[in-house]
Amino acid sequence: MELRIGNGYDIHRLEPGRKLILGGVEIPFKKGLVGHSDADCLCHAITDALLGALALPDIGQFFPDTDPKTAGIDSTQMLRTIYEREILSRFFRVINVDSTIIAQEPHLASHLVGMRCALGGILGVAGDRIGIKATTSEGLGATGKRKAIACFATCLLEKFK
Ligand code: MG
Repeated sequence: MELRIGNGYDIHRLEPGRKLILGGVEIPFKKGLVGHSDADCLCHAITDALLGALALPDIGQFFPDTDPKTAGIDSTQMLRTIYEREILSRFFRVINVDSTIIAQEPHLASHLVGMRCALGGILGVAGDRIGIKATTSEGLGATGKRKAIACFATCLLEKFK
């Protein structure tokens, strides 16, 4: 049995006038993340963790932010595409994912189960294999000053064939 581990990190700026989407879930808030896609930095960090586990290029190589065709794209669609075309196609499946969202606000606790279910559905595992934790950064740095939300993700993959 071959196991592979991967990690991913992402950060996006927070600005008024954008929807806040994290882990495929829209969260009511006065600001949202800015990016070429819907800027779901949890999805992006997990996508990069999957790619990293197989030593593949990062998400930006598959979805360049200069491509007008992907402007405003739903990041769960990017995650699904990478999982199906790059991970499953190489006969790897997800054992588990763990992740941390760093956001001073909004309070995310009530949204985590929804994110776990959404992401588990995409990655072919139950929600109890998708860890998502939320923390603040105690007012420090860009995330602490409410200028950005950042995410770290780790995944473990297993070869099944
Ligand atoms: Mg990103």
